[in-house]
Amino acid sequence: VECGRTYQPSKGLYTCPECGETGILDVIYDYEAIQPVLTREALAANHDYSHWRYLPLMPLESREHIQPLSVGWTPLVRNRRLEEALGVGRLFIKDDGRNPTGSLKDRASSVGVAKALAEGEKVITCASTGNAASSLAGFAASAGLKAYIFVPATAPEAKVAQLLIFGANVLLVQGSYDEAYDLCSAAATRYGWYNRNCAVNPYLIEGKKTIGFEIAEQLGWQVPDWFVMSVGDGCSIAGAGKAFDELFRLGLIDRVPRLLGVQAAGAAPVTAAFYQNATTFHPVKPDTLADSIAVGVPRNFTKAIRQVRSSGGTMINVTDQEILEAMQLMAGLAGVFTEPAGSAALAGLRAARSAGVIGPHDSVVVAATGNGLKDIKAARRITPEPVLVYPDLADLARKLEATH
Ligand SMILES: *Cc1c(COP(=O)(O)O)cnc(C)c1O
Ligand SMILES: [Zn+2]
Repeated sequence: VECGRTYQPSKGLYTCPECGETGILDVIYDYEAIQPVLTREALAANHDYSHWRYLPLMPLESREHIQPLSVGWTPLVRNRRLEEALGVGRLFIKDDGRNPTGSLKDRASSVGVAKALAEGEKVITCASTGNAASSLAGFAASAGLKAYIFVPATAPEAKVAQLLIFGANVLLVQGSYDEAYDLCSAAATRYGWYNRNCAVNPYLIEGKKTIGFEIAEQLGWQVPDWFVMSVGDGCSIAGAGKAFDELFRLGLIDRVPRLLGVQAAGAAPVTAAFYQNATTFHPVKPDTLADSIAVGVPRNFTKAIRQVRSSGGTMINVTDQEILEAMQLMAGLAGVFTEPAGSAALAGLRAARSAGVIGPHDSVVVAATGNGLKDIKAARRITPEPVLVYPDLADLARKLEATH
């Protein structure tokens, strides 16, 4: 992404040898060979309802190492109550909390683990704010790979429980996600573990991008005006943007949606750089309850900004309070319970709609990137207390009276 050099794929090649650590690679396919294979008709006849239906545009030679956990093809939910509340033309939620370990990270981990197996690796590692970790642990369990996982000690309990029950070696780092990331990278080099970190491993983003393919296909190849997603490291939105570009290139769609990248106000180095037209970012000390996007050193900053810009889209920040309100709104109006990083996207749509960036007739897809059950403490910060009642009708009548 820095110098534009190209390389043939080879084992252990994650970053550009000329550019070093920041020289993240991007996977390029033989699009001419893929075009006749990956048609609308071929996809309509394909009964593999998982993200592997897009295998020709994924970096695996075969299905041999694919795990039997079902990834992707998550519901795209249209909700009229939300449309009315937000004042937009058409609003769909891409419910990625429905993946096997409860977040869109399963798209990446499923590819990462298959790739590790194909390369004969036995030990895999990653650093994560929580979801990439629980996802990798689940897929490593299925594949019989040993996993070393680095998460900040502050990660939500449910995510840590996932790691432990999947049998990963869990390292709770007494520091931020950014520090956990550096420790993990150093350990991967020292011990020779396969590094699943999305930013440096170009194959992971190739898994994340399938969310974009699915949205286009689920909407009958009519892409929305906007695609809204929260941004931490930036791999996810960069992946979605790449997906739309690839579909456009293959002639499967006739335009790409604008990308709206949403950051938490307390962890927004990507938004800052976007508005300053900067080619680098200023690291920040993250301060947000949206743990999955509490990233102060965004590793995929370049790809993310490039995709947002080329789509004609923009970036916006939201406060923790707005994130919680959006969580309540999505659950209360649409019945979709998403974790704070997921509802941050809806909060971003709301803010962009108020600012007039998104219009009243626009169609929008919002990515609900993680399941709300992963962080129930966050939800309880905005919900009222339940009513305590004795098993007695008279008491119930009194309590109902009091709540009205
Ligand atoms: C990882 C994650 C994101 C953001 O993805 P990045 O690639 O870090 O930008 C958003 N929401 C959830 C739930 C996540 O787990
Ligand atoms: Zn380079």
